Amino acid sequence: MPNDNHDENSYNNLSLDHFMAGLKKRNPDEPEFHQAVYEVAESVIPFILENPKYQKAGIIQRMTEPDRTIIFRVVWEDDEGHIRINRGYRVQFNNSIGPYKGGLRFHPSVNLSILKFLGFEQTFKNSLTTLPMGAGKGGSDFNPKGKSEREIMRFCQAFMTELSYHIGPNTDVPAGDIGVGAREISFMFGQYKRLQHEFTGVLTGKALAFGGSLVRTEATGYGNAYFMEEMLRHHSDSINGKVCVVSGSGNVALYCCQKITQLGGKVVTLSDSSGFIYDKNGIDEDKLAYLIKLKTVQHGRLSEYAAAYGCEYHEGERPWGIPCDLAFPCATQNELDEADAKVLVANGCKAVSEGANMPCSAQAIRVFQQAQLIFGPGKAANAGGVAVSGLEMTQNSMRLAWSAKELEQRLQGIMVDIHKQCATYGEEDGYMNYVKGANIAGFIKVADAMLAYGVM
Ligand code: NDP
Repeated sequence: MPNDNHDENSYNNLSLDHFMAGLKKRNPDEPEFHQAVYEVAESVIPFILENPKYQKAGIIQRMTEPDRTIIFRVVWEDDEGHIRINRGYRVQFNNSIGPYKGGLRFHPSVNLSILKFLGFEQTFKNSLTTLPMGAGKGGSDFNPKGKSEREIMRFCQAFMTELSYHIGPNTDVPAGDIGVGAREISFMFGQYKRLQHEFTGVLTGKALAFGGSLVRTEATGYGNAYFMEEMLRHHSDSINGKVCVVSGSGNVALYCCQKITQLGGKVVTLSDSSGFIYDKNGIDEDKLAYLIKLKTVQHGRLSEYAAAYGCEYHEGERPWGIPCDLAFPCATQNELDEADAKVLVANGCKAVSEGANMPCSAQAIRVFQQAQLIFGPGKAANAGGVAVSGLEMTQNSMRLAWSAKELEQRLQGIMVDIHKQCATYGEEDGYMNYVKGANIAGFIKVADAMLAYGVM
């Protein structure tokens, strides 16, 4: 390959170590991106070596290089009249099978490494949904916490003023992620509509009044519970009667908790960045209704739940030490490490399903696999959110709205189908390796599209 990275980028010598050395050299100081690529490359490179057409075309090298990365300044004015400056990003990773699609994250930790890991993961996740969606991710280091409603509105408008040049209903359709919920999507959609003079489905996760889809709010969490149910069904078991530990208390965690409860499981924990609650009696529908209001309307803290219901609150800790049958990490990346994984295994946990993106470290996943624990990776288990976003795009294009019943049936069907695809490629000497299955199944569709387009 005649470029400066000839050696490291060579597709003739496709060993995992050689490939990763090249990737790290080209993308220094991006540990989360390295971690996400390693997890995929570990299972996909042996598959590529068995299928030389992908090797000759340099597909994995191309897939790990985003189509483009847009970085921009966002300037806004706070309530005291001070000028504030943040950095905005959109990583358009791969549009081989559809318009770029993936969320926007507003959090002070946001940087290029995190957005590239998320955009890369999105390639495989979106492919697994069976819907025509490419992959992207974006956001800003803006921290919505502690900001007034009007400050958030001014930030969102300033952010969209620049982002609007780069997105469109057939180009790139962002959605929410950490720190970006219905309120932020509404502010950004309003600004896009004003700037572009058109009403189109350029964002998903919109409110119902202006093109949103029923079941989108619940989709990621519900989908994660459905995926766990499907993995357990495959192993002749179910969620019914199981004690479940869930982390996070945002969009994904709350609705994962709801569906687990509906499927007969008992959720005993939830967490936020300050600590976790341990409610031995289980977080039932009434308590969950309190939590949804606390988190989405009052933007309160979990410690308030502990005070209201008199349960344990563990400040500054994560919930993995609580004995459970099933675990659902639903907060953020790398929130469950090797030591946590060992504790879960020692306590008899049977299965883990990732609601968040890459919440388990590579070492933690190794512990689960060595213990033959059932492990569902996020790119499969949390794909329900983007799947219903895809259905929101379809409804917008058709200018109609499906019922909640129809959407939930479609979501459930998609999660079952994702499980089937993973199972097709994941079987390994009697152990179902869902990481391998998801990576290979997600890879094939995108890789075949890239091959068909020729060299680009
Ligand atoms: P929210 O912003 O609604 O909630 C995030 C939750 O995680 C909050 O409880 C937050 O606590 C906690 N959290 C965030 N950062 C940290 C941290 N560094 N340490 C501990 N806890 C933290 O986000 P979502 O629920 O939408 O997203 C959660 C995860 O799911 C992310 O990994 C996201 O990428 C992934 N995901 C989301 C999808 C969606 O549809 N929303 C789709 C697919 C994946 P606090 O309030 O204290 O910050």
